[in-house]
Amino acid sequence: MNAKLDSGVTTRPVTRQTFDEVLVPTYAPAAMVPVRAAGLDVWDQEDKHYLDFTSGIAVSSLGHANPVLVDALTKQINTLWHLGNGYTNEPVLRLASALVEATFADRAFFCNSGAEANEAALKLARKYAHTKFGPHKSRIISCLSSFHGRTLFTVSVGGQPKYTEGFEPLPQEINHIPYNDIEAARAAILDDVAAVIVEPIQGEGGVIPGNHEYLAALREFCDKTGALLIFDEVQSGVGRTGALYAYMDTPVIPDILTSAKALGNGYPIGAMLTTEEIAQHFNVGSHGTTYGGNPLAATVALNVVEMINQPAFLARVKEASAKIFANLEKLTADYPQLFGKARGLGLLIGLPLAEGFKGRAKDVTKIAEKMGLMLLIAGPDVIRMAPALIVSDAQIAEADRILRAAVDEFLAAA
Ligand SMILES: *Cc1c(COP(=O)(O)O)cnc(C)c1O
Repeated sequence: MNAKLDSGVTTRPVTRQTFDEVLVPTYAPAAMVPVRAAGLDVWDQEDKHYLDFTSGIAVSSLGHANPVLVDALTKQINTLWHLGNGYTNEPVLRLASALVEATFADRAFFCNSGAEANEAALKLARKYAHTKFGPHKSRIISCLSSFHGRTLFTVSVGGQPKYTEGFEPLPQEINHIPYNDIEAARAAILDDVAAVIVEPIQGEGGVIPGNHEYLAALREFCDKTGALLIFDEVQSGVGRTGALYAYMDTPVIPDILTSAKALGNGYPIGAMLTTEEIAQHFNVGSHGTTYGGNPLAATVALNVVEMINQPAFLARVKEASAKIFANLEKLTADYPQLFGKARGLGLLIGLPLAEGFKGRAKDVTKIAEKMGLMLLIAGPDVIRMAPALIVSDAQIAEADRILRAAVDEFLAAA
């Protein structure tokens, strides 16, 4: 018998140290190893409790181990896991119907992540432009500081050079313009542009909402030149901003929308939504992926969309958001030397550090974590909060209490 497959592999003791020994070192995970979670509560290997204001980077919006999702997934697990795209399945048909009904879109394509959803969107936009206008129309315009995923195409489209360095040669005819700058967009969106891709609120880039006039200008320039407007709603979508998709609170309708993260609440799924006319530029064999629209993922996503796309649910997201913003306003007033003005939409919130503390966001979140509050950063200078959308008033108050204690400890040591 293969010694490596000897009994005990599923139960052998593992620690954070094991990560450094057997994982490719692409991440620097926290010192604690979470072992179970429910709602916004997380427990580590020592059974220490944490209040989760990250939801796995805007993913587990309905909370960890959501009972409705556990039940739906368990039923599906006992019914049908996977047959591949040579067959369709009932959950994916229901999911596509629900998304088409709820959005501008007429058609959906499913994959397994945000990067793949953007990869599909960018490929579709190129195919559309090539067929309709000719191969000269291939340029892609994206924003500086944007994030669109880690495949070679999406990382090249993303506006953060540190993520492409060393991976050259990169895909061609991609240009980056400053976010929220209408004149730069006007100058860049010319006849050779196939697509403009934009996050309606930049997440990884520092939690920066797009101005409505800016998004409307992108729409206008795309219409003038025949370019497609792609909204990357991988982070902003599925209720995060208090609308099912963030575009719904803007005056703009995109041609293609990408969704992932919260769509599966932690079960991997990505989606690209588009119109009938554009969808017809992909045909059988143009694009695909083995797991895309798999019954397990589709079942979870269907239930997620069903639960989140309710007026009362989305109204509560905006109410919870207002409570957190009120707390942060008091916090920044109490510590003006440490913080700038909080920004964001719904429950995607950024708290920038003031000039003298730039680069220290991670130091603050590390102390908060030690005190039992999990937070994110968005770049080195911004603390990011993205709690589950079901966060209670009591949890909002508790997070405020811990963050204040963490800030005091941080300042005492600074
Ligand atoms: C997280 C994210 C992605 C990438 O999604 P993955 O599932 O990690 O591939 C793309 N775009 C935005 C805006 C994101 O926040």
